[in-house]
Parts: sequence; structure tokens; C-alpha cells
Amino acid sequence: MPDDSYDPMEALANAKHEFGEHGGVNMSIEASTTFTVLHANVMPEIFGGRLGPDTGGCYLYGRHFNPTVFTLGKQLAAIEGAEDGYCTASGMGAIAATITQLCDAGDHVVSSNTIYGGTHAILKDYFPKKTGVTTTFVDITDLEAVESAIRVNTRVLYTESIANPTLVVADIPKLAEIAKRHGITFVVDNTFSPLVLSPIRLGADIVVHSATKFIGGASDAIAGVICGRTEFIRQLMDLHTGSLMLLGPTMDPLIAFKLSMRLPHLGLRVTEHSRRAMYFAKRLEKLDLPVVYPGLESHPQHELLRSLQHPDYGFGGLFTVDAGTVDRANALLEHLQNEHRFGFMAVSLGYFETLLSCSGSSTSSEMSEEEQRESGISPGLVRISIGYTGSVEQRWEQMESSLRKVGLIS
Ligand code: PLP
Repeated sequence: MPDDSYDPMEALANAKHEFGEHGGVNMSIEASTTFTVLHANVMPEIFGGRLGPDTGGCYLYGRHFNPTVFTLGKQLAAIEGAEDGYCTASGMGAIAATITQLCDAGDHVVSSNTIYGGTHAILKDYFPKKTGVTTTFVDITDLEAVESAIRVNTRVLYTESIANPTLVVADIPKLAEIAKRHGITFVVDNTFSPLVLSPIRLGADIVVHSATKFIGGASDAIAGVICGRTEFIRQLMDLHTGSLMLLGPTMDPLIAFKLSMRLPHLGLRVTEHSRRAMYFAKRLEKLDLPVVYPGLESHPQHELLRSLQHPDYGFGGLFTVDAGTVDRANALLEHLQNEHRFGFMAVSLGYFETLLSCSGSSTSSEMSEEEQRESGISPGLVRISIGYTGSVEQRWEQMESSLRKVGLIS
């Protein structure tokens, strides 16, 4: 259950503020790719992992820790209530580095069957072929199925906090109990619900994000983050066995600086995304349309999410409407974009403008028709990441007009 004394934005405000080199109110961007040591005997200590930026040493090389990225990692760790964090070049970089760090060849993952298509593809197709790590996909709301999928070689339980695109909510405390009982690492992708949920405070071991989404907020940077224990972050940077250090998907410092400028208003943004999503979901439900939003009482895990969320940040900025067929979904998207400038027909989410996509033929197209059906992705499912430009009334009028145009309402 949530720790009521913990608020992610308060934690960010309490985190150490890094000033710029010349007393600037913002931290400086450290663009150097390599760092001097003053005494030659320090170098082997850094290479041996005995000295580092946190342990009385200094920085080594840009693909290892970088000061600007290091600071952003600490800020995001504060927001996630984690001991530590580091940032990656993309959300997929964060996911791939985490799984490869935790699993050796022949190991096994139990994963939710409703996850982002790219994550599904890496677990189902790429890893078995390239690394010998296999995955069993299960309905994450069926705790018995989750537990019985765990084998002796299972190392990771993987889920999204609120799933892309089905918006299924994972019971993080119960899943954490299962993972603990079996001695496996529980990894949660919190991309859909930054601030809304704090998975680590609810028992998860590691949180990953596509920071490309709400954290970035402007659809102008591909980025990711991994939060967890300091020991795990250090493992990722190990010079012999670290997935970040060796595979190299660390974040560029210019991107880290840009994202750090977005964090102070993440709370305001998420609150407004959630407020508008709730408004739309309620109005669509009133029109008897098949809308899914975890903020609605009709959502199967509404009460669960209410019991886990930080209420100030609402239920997230995404909802779905089932248009029945792909053709009608496409007609709806085209009308919304081309007649009303309601938003953009584009993948991704968490942008200040509304982003509209038909999941089955886009971000979940890596899944077969059967896999989509099993995980609840119908062909006409329209995913809407609601933005906050324009007035709510103006946007609702546009939505109603498009729904009428494509025959979803009369
Ligand atoms: N996780 C989720 C839930 C996503 O929706 C996405 C991308 O859409 C990713 C991870 C991958 O993130 P990125 O595109 O930053 O690599």
C-alpha cells in the first residue's frame, strides 16, 4: 500500500540542487567525453570500480558516468522513491540493459502479455535468438497464472504499471510479494504513470521508463531511465559485465540537461493530462461508447489503482475508445486530425498535444493477431494520449463532431 508520507514532487524538491559552474541557477552541461585525473594512481582505482563519482573518485569516460546525466539520474530516482537511478538513450535502452543485466543465457522471464510492442518483440523474438533468454507471457491480473509460470531458472518478473495500450493496472504490491517469495527481481515499466504510481515504494525492485513520453513532455527527445538500488546501477556500469558500460546505451548530456529542465513542472503537466483524460472519459462513457480509462469506476482495476495512486496526479493521461473496426478507427483519427486539428495521428504519448493511434496496426503490430486478441487489443482500438493545448470545451466539441461524422454517435 502507498506510503502516505511520500510525495514524488516533494522528494524532487528535497533532492540536492546542482548549480552551474559559474553559480548558474541551473546545472552546467558537462559535454566532455573524457575526464582528467590529477594523480596517476587514481586511474586504476576508477577502472577497478573502487572509486567513482559517489565514492571519492571522479568521472572516467562519457559512456560511463557523466556528471549531467548523473544528476538527472538522481532527480529521477527522487521522483521514483528509489535509492539511485541512471539514464539511457531510450526507453528500449533502459529495458534491454536491465533484462540483460539480470539474466544470463538460459534464464527465463515471466512477463505481462499486455506491454509495449517493442518490449514484447525483444522478449519474444530477439532475446531467445540472441541471448537464449526466454519469456512466458501471462495475464498479469491473474496472480495464480503469474506464480505458476515461474520456473527454477526465472530471474525476472516484468510488467507495465498501467499497460500500453490496454490500460490494465498491475497489482504491484501482490506481484512484489510473489517475486520476493521466489527470489526473483520485479521490474516495472512506469512510463504510463510517472508520479501517479511509485512502484518501488509499492515493492518493485527496479523501475524503467521511456522518458521520451511524459518525463520529456515535448516529443523532442528519445530517452530512458533505470531506477533501483545503487548496487544495481553500479553493476550496469561495471567495466567487465555492465550492460550500460559495454553495450553503450547511455544518455547524451545535452538530452539530460534538457530533461532536467522539464522535471519541475512534471507534476503540473501530469495533473492536467489526468484532469483532461478524466473529463473526456466521463463524457464518452455518458455517450455509451466503449471507453477504457482507469479513472472510471467501470474500469476493472479502478479501485486497485485508487488504493495505490498518489491522488494529486490523477489516473494518467491515456484512455482508449473502441471504434469497432480499423476502418472506422482510421476515419475517426483522420477527421480529428485533418478537420479539427484536435491532435496528431502519431505514435508516442505524454506530449503537450494530443496523440492518436490505432494500437493494433501501430505500436502493438509486433504482436500477432492472436496475441493481440489474448491481451485485449481489438482491431478498432484507438489510443488517445490527451494533451493540454486549447480549451477542454473546444476539444470536446471537436471530438463530438468527429464521433458523429464517423457514425459512432448520432
Ligand atoms: N515502454 C513503453 C510503455 C512504451 O510505450 C515505449 C514506447 O512507446 C517504450 C517503453 C520504449 O521507449 P523508447 O521509444 O523511448 O525507446
